Amino acid sequence: MINERVLTGDRVTGKLHLGHYVGSLQNRVRLQEQYDTFVFLADVQALTTHFEKPELIRNNLYEVALDYLSVGINPNKATIFIQSMIPEIAELTVLFSMFVTVNSLRHNPTIKAESKNSKIDDLYYGFLGYPVSQAADITFCKATIIPVGEDQLPHLELARKIVRRFNELYRPVFKVPHALISDTPRLVGTDGNAKMSKSLGNTIELDSSTEEIAYKIRRAKTDPARIHKNDPGHPDICPIFAYHCAFRSTESLEIREYCEQGSLGCSACKQFITTALDELIAPMRERRSYYAARPKVVADILMSGTHHAREIAQETMTEVRDAMCLNYF
Ligand code: ATP
Ligand code: MG
Repeated sequence: MINERVLTGDRVTGKLHLGHYVGSLQNRVRLQEQYDTFVFLADVQALTTHFEKPELIRNNLYEVALDYLSVGINPNKATIFIQSMIPEIAELTVLFSMFVTVNSLRHNPTIKAESKNSKIDDLYYGFLGYPVSQAADITFCKATIIPVGEDQLPHLELARKIVRRFNELYRPVFKVPHALISDTPRLVGTDGNAKMSKSLGNTIELDSSTEEIAYKIRRAKTDPARIHKNDPGHPDICPIFAYHCAFRSTESLEIREYCEQGSLGCSACKQFITTALDELIAPMRERRSYYAARPKVVADILMSGTHHAREIAQETMTEVRDAMCLNYF
């Protein structure tokens, strides 16, 4: 076991999808073999956009826990915990927020893109500040390796700045984290949007049935210029080709060639990817149904993971309080 911690979480606003899998989950499953790995259910961060729907968050928390277990995050190797049950994260967020400027948050490109999607003119304080809360998620356990998708890079940059600033202002309590970006840092949506995302409704969930996969792939966008089967295709603008690259990388060169020549039609091309995705998801469905039938086992995994994370958080907060002279008695 290498003496560094891995940490990432997911907002529990919906079931996880293929974008999460290639962007982050796959790396976590691999890293848990070598590193002390923490994975968390971001229910507080989900509230930043879904504060009017607390029941939705509650229901999805269990679904995302099943997603984790179904992709192979092993509770004997990784710590799975619930964000809202670690109050030290909220405490650390408040302390960090003293030295983060509003402009650095306003100009954060991911915040800008997400606020555009949500179509609100004025930003909520909690939403604007969620990157600060993410810095607290990372630092409470002194994690250094953060497997995330590309959209998270500005947030990681802020977390690094916060750590450096804290260490220089007070005492070197924290380690500087870095992002671990996967080979597919941003998977496109089935509608051709640059990002497959829960909020955009262009996803293929990790619990999809064979029929759901086939349906979504059948309806997915392809090269719009390709009207007849034998027209030469433009794979670089086709979401289906992006899926070949992400999930059938060895065959993707051939697919490109046949598509560009016009010798492989879109429906045959879609059939290949449908089969590959079904093969990928089939074992996930199996593990999911095992855990779904055992809710008590899932609850125990979350409780013991949260307990473990909390102990670490309390140790870190003692150091933080000492460093910031908040240790009165
Ligand atoms: P929301 O739309 O509610 O923000 P999301 O689909 O963006 O949901 P998050 O919970 O915000 O999902 O992201 C969790 C992790 O998954 C992050 O590391 C993010 O970068 C990664 N991720 C999400 N979507 C993709 C994608 N399409 N490609 C690569 N990585 C992704
Ligand atoms: Mg997101």
